Amino acid sequence: MKITSAEFVISAVRPDQYPTDALPEIALAGRSNVGKSSLINRMINRKNLARTSSQPGKTQQLNYYRINEQVYFIDFPGYGYAKVSKSEREAWGRMIERYLKDREELKLVMLIIDIRHAPSKDDCLMYEWLKHFEIPTCIVVTKSDKIPKSQWDKQIKLVKETLQADPRDTIIRYSSETGEGRDQLWGHIMQTISS
Ligand code: GDP
Repeated sequence: MKITSAEFVISAVRPDQYPTDALPEIALAGRSNVGKSSLINRMINRKNLARTSSQPGKTQQLNYYRINEQVYFIDFPGYGYAKVSKSEREAWGRMIERYLKDREELKLVMLIIDIRHAPSKDDCLMYEWLKHFEIPTCIVVTKSDKIPKSQWDKQIKLVKETLQADPRDTIIRYSSETGEGRDQLWGHIMQTISS
């Protein structure tokens, strides 16, 4: 995928701030620190457009990035950060639920999972939500460079089993370090937004 333009557009805290140009939206969900910003940066070949290790506590922002004037990536606030208060967690839930339920431009959610660990309870809940709202989902298992190749299949199996993944969902092994999976993920995104 050739990237001709990539720009940060807005950290939206309310639906009336979401863009109105009707481009398709691809959202990223995952625990804080799972590697969402690094994944975006690698997808668009920029070192620092998406902030890595985005501050925990910014639980109510949807960060919009416009790519090639063709598609938005939306970085959901990471979940599972221990220090977030109950009321912040609830506000996060309301915002994400509303977005998933109402946002017509949403075409795909990439659920990002760290290849080294079994999906957390929060990951499983997120996945159940996506199924409940019938959102097309792609499971991206990232940081593949962090474990030996000999463990890849075993870990992917663990991810599938823990999430009780729908066999129809695409699962892509990814590394922001080596670029593994980048072309496959772009292929899946382009296919999704053109169908
Ligand atoms: P976010 O909180 O989900 O946006 O996570 P970040 O993108 O900030 O990544 C968290 C940490 O994991 C950072 O130190 C990244 O450099 C590191 N990281 C992210 N993706 C990868 C990867 O694919 N491989 C390796 N080795 N490190 C990664």
